[in-house]
Amino acid sequence: MSDTYTVINPATAQPVTDVHLASLAEADAAIEAAHEAFAAWRAVSPGDRAALLRRFAAVVDDHIEELAELEVRNAGHTRGNARWEAGNVRDCLNYYAGAPERMSGRQIPVAGGVDLTFHEPLGVVGIIVPWNFPMPIAGWGFAPALAAGNTVVLKPAELTPLTAIRLGELALAAGLPEHVLTVIPGKGSVVGERFVTHPLVRKVCFTGSTEVGKLIMAGCADQVKRVTLELGGKSANIVFADADIAAAAASAPSAVFDNAGQDCCARSRILVERSAYDEFVSRLEPAVTGMRVLDPTDESSEMGPLISAGQQRTVQGYLDEVEVAFAGSAPGGDGFWVPPSVVTTDDPAARIWREEVFGPVVAVMPFDDEAHAVELANDTEYGLSGSIFTRDLGRGLRVARAVEAGNLSVNSHSSVRYWTPFGGYKQSGLGRELGPDAPLAFTEEKNVFIAH
Ligand code: NAD
Repeated sequence: MSDTYTVINPATAQPVTDVHLASLAEADAAIEAAHEAFAAWRAVSPGDRAALLRRFAAVVDDHIEELAELEVRNAGHTRGNARWEAGNVRDCLNYYAGAPERMSGRQIPVAGGVDLTFHEPLGVVGIIVPWNFPMPIAGWGFAPALAAGNTVVLKPAELTPLTAIRLGELALAAGLPEHVLTVIPGKGSVVGERFVTHPLVRKVCFTGSTEVGKLIMAGCADQVKRVTLELGGKSANIVFADADIAAAAASAPSAVFDNAGQDCCARSRILVERSAYDEFVSRLEPAVTGMRVLDPTDESSEMGPLISAGQQRTVQGYLDEVEVAFAGSAPGGDGFWVPPSVVTTDDPAARIWREEVFGPVVAVMPFDDEAHAVELANDTEYGLSGSIFTRDLGRGLRVARAVEAGNLSVNSHSSVRYWTPFGGYKQSGLGRELGPDAPLAFTEEKNVFIAH
C-alpha cells in the first residue's frame, strides 16, 4: 500500500511537496540491503573509509545553501540556524573521518600467550530522528556509525524528511557505496518500529520524546538490542546574585527560544537568587520583547514558527492555563506562530514548571541559596543540560557537579559541540553521543587470546 505525506511550510502553512512513506516491506528490503552491504563496507581499509567520509563532508559543504534552504522551508528554521545545522553535518563527518584510523584495540599482558582486543562494528544501525533538528541529529548518528564500519538505515521524522533525503543522495554522489547509508522516510509506527523488531538491525539510536523512547527501549529488550536514547529535557538556567545579571538576562532568551523553544536542551526553567530576582526580570523583559520573530526567510529573523499546527495547539494549551508576565511579538498569518512568552511562578508543582513544553515558553522562579537552587534544579525526571551564572568559579564548579544533568555550562549556554560528549541523566536518555568516544558506541569490544 502506497502512502504519502504532504510536507507543510510551518511559516505559511502551505504545502511544499509530497513524500512517499515506506511500507513495512520496503523497510525490510532496505534493512536487508544494508545488511548485504555491511561485509564489504567493514572491509574497506581504514584510510579509504576515512577518505570517503571526508569526500562526503566536502559534498555536503558544496550544498550548504541548498540544504539550509530546504530546512528553512520544511522546518521553519531561521537561515542562520539552518546554515549552522548543515555545516554541523559537514563538521561531524570530517571529525569522525579521523576515527577509522584510530580504532585501536589493546594488548593486555597475560600468561602463556598474547591477549588482544578489537572494536568490531555491529552491522546495521537504525537511526530514528525527530523533527526539531533534522540535520544535526542525523549526522550525530550516521557519521560515527559509518566511521566504525557499520551500515546505516535512517528514518527522519514524518514532518521533516527533506534534508535527510538530500543527505542520502549526497552520500551516494560522494562515492559511498550503495546501501551503506539509506534514508527511509516513513511512519514511526511502521519504519521506526521495524528498526526495533528486525533482527538484522543490531542497534537503535533514538532521539525523540521520552514516551516513545521508553517504548523503543522496552522493544529492544526482546533481542537485547543495543540502544542509545536522547530524550526530553526541562533544563535549568541558575542565576546567582553575584553574577553579571545584565549578561545573564541578555543571554537567557536565546538559551530557551532558539528554534522557537523546540530544543531538548532549552533552558526552560530560569532560577534566580531572590535578591537579584527583580533586577533580572526587569532586564529580561526588553530582551524578550525585542526579539525579532519573523518569517525565517528574512535574514534578520531570530525566531521562526513552531513546526506544526499540532505543536502550536500543545504550546497554546500550556499558555492558556497560566498568566503570562510578558511576551514578545509574532507575525499574523497562517503559519504556526507563538510569541516568546515568560511566566513567573513560585510553584514547583505547576505543569509549566515540570513539563517539557517544547515551545517558546520559559518559567522563572526565585530561590533562597545554593542548596535550594540545586534542590529545585534536580526536582525533575529529566537531566539533559543546564547553565549556571555566577562570578564565584568555585560555586560554578560545585553547582555544575551537583546538578544531575549531562551537559552543564558556567557563564555560558554552550550549545552542543560535536567533539564533546552529549547525553542525558535520568529520563533524558541513555548512553552518550558525540565526542571522541562516539564510534566505540557502535562497536562490540572483542577479546582474543593467542597461546604461545
Ligand atoms: P517523537 O518521539 O514523537 O518522534 C521521534 C521519532 O520517533 C520520529 O521519527 C517518529 O516518527 C519516531 N517514532 C514515533 N513513534 C515510534 C515508534 N513507536 N517506534 C519507533 N519510532 C517511532 O518525538 P518528536 O516529537 O519528533 O521530537 C520531540 C522530542 O524529542 C522532544 O521530547 C525532545 O526533547 C526530544 N529531543 C531530544 C533530543 C536529545 O538529544 N536528547 C534532541 C532532540 C529532540
